Amino acid sequence: MMSLSDISQRIEKAVAQAGRDRGSVKLIAVSKVQPNERVEAVLKEGHRCFGENRVQEAAGKWPAFRDDHDGVDLHLIGPLQTNKARQAFDLFQSIHTLDRPKLAKTCARLAQEIGHCPELFVQVNTGEEPQKAGVAPSDADAFIAECRALDLPVRGLMCIPPIDEEASLHFALLAKIAERNGLAGLSMGMSDDFEKAISFGATHIRVGSAIFGARVPA
Ligand SMILES: *Cc1c(COP(=O)(O)O)cnc(C)c1O
Repeated sequence: MMSLSDISQRIEKAVAQAGRDRGSVKLIAVSKVQPNERVEAVLKEGHRCFGENRVQEAAGKWPAFRDDHDGVDLHLIGPLQTNKARQAFDLFQSIHTLDRPKLAKTCARLAQEIGHCPELFVQVNTGEEPQKAGVAPSDADAFIAECRALDLPVRGLMCIPPIDEEASLHFALLAKIAERNGLAGLSMGMSDDFEKAISFGATHIRVGSAIFGARVPA
């Protein structure tokens, strides 16, 4: 495991090599399944931006962390069931896994009712893997248009490249789809490839094990 400051230095270097500003990349510390003391340690270092992949798990630990630490910025990076959407609106500032019309309609209804909506990323299944969530690359433009017609605050796109393929191809594809749709946000890059993702324009990198150490099984 590396420390938060090691990761920050690596981000700074990658950002400089890409000729970008440090402020253009947000580090989401992925705290899923990590023991509370590890998360607490990163909070104490002053980091405030975290990612969780399950609503239930986040609901179990983040209200207490928030009582002790101001300014927590929480991102949902795992699949969202429509019946958990309301709870997700309460907990998360961003949802990276908008991936189907039914969920888009539910988010639009909740946004109307509650009067606010987390920023949203459309998940694209760039590898077209049957077991993975996300819209197919060929359906992305139409789905983004549908979300915009619902007045949803779509900030950008998100992908999880297939583990056995060169991630660069997927980062490039996601960047291309975002560009042609006028979307600025790119949620891509994890512990093993965040520097590469930064070189392809990532604005939100999701780094777990490199910050916290290997995930302890629940
Ligand atoms: C767990 C997870 C990550 C972080 O993975 P690491 O390899 O530990 O950095 C990033 N994105 C998503 C969607 C995840 O589920």
